[in-house]
Amino acid sequence: MRGVNHKEPMAERVIGIDLGTTNSCVATVEGGVPKVIANKGGYKTTPSMVAITDSGRRLVGHIAKRQAITNASNTVYAAKRLIGRKWSHPTVQQARQVLPYKLVEGDTGDVRIELRGTASSISEISAVVLSEMKKIAEEYFGGPVEKAVITIPAYFNDGQRQATKDAGKIAGLDVIRIINEPTAAALAYGYKKNIKKRVAVFDLGGGTFDISVLDIQDGVFEVLATAGDTYFGGEDFDQRIVEWLVFGFAKEHRLDLRTDAMALQRLRDAAEQAKMQLSVTPSAEINLPFIMSPSPASGKTDALHLQRTLTREKLEDMTADLVERSIEICDRMLKEARIQKEEIEEVVLVGGQTRMPKVQQVVKEYFGIDPVKSVHPDEVVALGAAVQAAALVGAQEEGKQPDLLLLDVTPHQLGIMIAGGYFNTLIPANSTVPTSSMHTFTTVRDAQTAVKIVVLQGDSEVANQNELLGEFLLTGLPSRPRGEIEVDVKFDISPDGIVSVSARDKSTGVQQSIQVTATNRLSEDEMKRILSTNEEFAVAEKNTEMFTKVKNDVERHMRDVDKLMPLVKDFITGSDFGDDALKKVEAVKERAKKAIQRQDVEALKDVQELLDRAVSMLKGVAERIASKK
Ligand code: ADP
Ligand code: MG
Repeated sequence: MRGVNHKEPMAERVIGIDLGTTNSCVATVEGGVPKVIANKGGYKTTPSMVAITDSGRRLVGHIAKRQAITNASNTVYAAKRLIGRKWSHPTVQQARQVLPYKLVEGDTGDVRIELRGTASSISEISAVVLSEMKKIAEEYFGGPVEKAVITIPAYFNDGQRQATKDAGKIAGLDVIRIINEPTAAALAYGYKKNIKKRVAVFDLGGGTFDISVLDIQDGVFEVLATAGDTYFGGEDFDQRIVEWLVFGFAKEHRLDLRTDAMALQRLRDAAEQAKMQLSVTPSAEINLPFIMSPSPASGKTDALHLQRTLTREKLEDMTADLVERSIEICDRMLKEARIQKEEIEEVVLVGGQTRMPKVQQVVKEYFGIDPVKSVHPDEVVALGAAVQAAALVGAQEEGKQPDLLLLDVTPHQLGIMIAGGYFNTLIPANSTVPTSSMHTFTTVRDAQTAVKIVVLQGDSEVANQNELLGEFLLTGLPSRPRGEIEVDVKFDISPDGIVSVSARDKSTGVQQSIQVTATNRLSEDEMKRILSTNEEFAVAEKNTEMFTKVKNDVERHMRDVDKLMPLVKDFITGSDFGDDALKKVEAVKERAKKAIQRQDVEALKDVQELLDRAVSMLKGVAERIASKK
């Protein structure tokens, strides 16, 4: 056995696991060198697949994959696309249409997978894959392994992070850290390299896409910005080919292959095979004999076969918008982070789908540089996770600072709901974690003795369009006029990117806090109730002196506008200039009202100036009218 001669008794055995949508990979650091641990079959990656056979046996990895065609409805793949999501999420509803296995709604609005009559949570399914990775490592070491770093897509939100951590726990792992996949890739790429570079990591795997930009310098890995899509990857490329095959077949035989789970699984397999082959050759044959029986109506009896040729050109044509989408996400991220493309010195490609020549070409054209060739796209994430795991444990044991420092960022804005149903940001996207932030809020009604803190993550300024992370009430506030009670709300993000929130009444010191745990425990009705704009427990941002000053000024201007408007309206209506001016004034007033409602000083300052100009304009017109009379 390989593990028997292994000599490193001092160091604790720790591993890094890349829990991929399609494939998972486990690595460790030996003698300062990160290395991937192969499974018993000699493969360095293991399919993230779990199946239950008709005799009730549970299969994982390659053996699960091998029987997927004949046991399609009881074989789970791509579970990661569902982890930490709510049943009502559009992507879940979309997935139900295409997945051969059955999704059911859990008691609490979460997603479950039903295999042979038993429903399991997604964390439980992922735990099966993680246990397998743990086992691969244990066989290699010849002894138990507990501590692990697990990677996740950078764009995962809090719920998805929590659910992954839960999966680790269920698998019997001590998850010492959760790190972002592109960051792990950069870690493996820059480890012990003594480089000083700005690097972009472009990670297009089976089910998720991430792009991150980092500065690497002397063992410090600082993520500057990250963006992505947790429902976008190689599976979407396969799906395009499947649709092409299904349509072609339907046209010829008037039969829908999607109605047959086994046929569909064979199509998916063949589509992926063809896609991979087209990364090397200009055309690929798809050959699926006996794919279906003919319809009785056709009068034919011979089984039908499917045979088509797919060219690389056709594939590129069918998936051009997908490739384009990845570039759009890069572009948006760079703009938001105010990074110039030209500042990027290296591009590291990660994920199997980046083997597609078109993807490589488009990335090269976009960044204007040749992507790095030295990293292995399937292994680099696990290697980085192992590097991080070893650094964390090594530092703990020897009580010294780790020899590398990771500064990652939070991918989404975090904040709370304020009066009027708006979202108030406490931590902007791309803030370095760990981080914390405190804002003061206040009551909105007289004698309001409780405030509800609704914690949200997302990018919309309307509260209910964001992901709900949790809520709690701070009660027992003294009965005072509105706006007088001050509540400090504090957000903390751990190095894993997991959020906790506390609220404290300044006058009494009474405090409430939550570690935000997955919202999966909430039903749809509860969500609606929480996000209702019911003002009973609403909070507003604390009026600052500045805000009050600007607000008073704006309100004075608005009164002026209301007074002047009736005087000038008839006079200027009908002219091009007049109609336009009136519309603009109305729009500015609307903006002012919103800014006041949201207590947004900056927005208010913008309209203050516009209103000032509107008042002068209206005054000028009023004077001209008066002089004519
Ligand atoms: P994940 O991190 O999601 O597990 P991987 O990095 O293992 O994903 O990538 C899996 C995806 O890459 C699959 O969609 C697979 O079809 C695709 N892929 C693997 N090899 C190739 C190739 N040679 N050409 C195109 N796509 C590939
Ligand atoms: Mg991956």
